[in-house]
Amino acid sequence: MTRDLEPGKLVLATHNDGKLKEIRELIGPFGFTVSSAGELGLAEPEEHGTTFEENAYTKAHAAATATGLPALSDDSGLCVDALGGEPGVHTADWAELPEGGRDFAMAMRNVEEKLQAKGATAPDQRTGRFVAVLCLCWPDGHAEYFRGEVDGQLVWPPRGEMGFGYDPVFMPDGFDQTFGEMPASEKHAWEAGRGDLGLSHRARAFATFAKAKLGAE
Ligand code: IMP
Repeated sequence: MTRDLEPGKLVLATHNDGKLKEIRELIGPFGFTVSSAGELGLAEPEEHGTTFEENAYTKAHAAATATGLPALSDDSGLCVDALGGEPGVHTADWAELPEGGRDFAMAMRNVEEKLQAKGATAPDQRTGRFVAVLCLCWPDGHAEYFRGEVDGQLVWPPRGEMGFGYDPVFMPDGFDQTFGEMPASEKHAWEAGRGDLGLSHRARAFATFAKAKLGAE
C-alpha cells in the first residue's frame, strides 16, 4: 500500500553533508520545506542492518518519530564485485577512524589493497556499483523504498576533488571521468520532465521517488 505525500515539511534523515547537499539540490524544485536530522540536532541512530533497506528504515523511522514529520533517508554504498559486494552496507564503516571521524583516503586505499590482493588489475576485474536506497517513512512507521544503482569500475589512483566519499575512485560506465571529476550537476543530473533517470545512484533513486510521490513526469 502506498500513501500520498502531502506538500509541506519533510525531514532529510541524514547527518552526511555530502548526501544532504545532493538531496537538497534534487528536491529543491518540489516546494518542500526541508530540514535535516543533523541540523535539528537529532541523534544519529546506529545501523545494524544487513541490507540498505533495513538501514534506510532505521534512519528514516528515527527522524520521523523524533519530529512527527515524514522523513526521507538515504542508505547507500559501494559494492565491488571482486570483493563479493563489499564494502556494501559497511561502506561508511571502512572510513571509520579508531579515534573518531572518517578518512575516505584510507577507505579508498583499503578497497584498492583488497583488489590488488585478488589480482584484480584489469578493468573488467574491477567492476562494481554504487547503490542508494531512499526510505520515506511516516511517524506511524509506514515506509516506502526507492532504489537506484549505477554500474562502473574502480580506478586507481583516486581522481578529482569534487563530490564526497569514494567519488574519486568510481568511474561510471560510459564515462571517462570519475564522479570526483564531475561537477555536481553532471553527477546527479536529473530534471523533472526530462524523462531519463539521471546518472548517479542517488539521482536514479530520487527520480523514482519523485515520480511516485511528487508527481514528477
Ligand atoms: P551510509 O549510507 O550512511 O551507511 O553511508 C554510505 C557511505 O557510502 C557514505 O559515507 C559514502 O562514503 C559512500 N557513498 C554513498 N554515496 C556516495 C556517493 O555518491 N559518492 C561517494 N561515496 C558515496
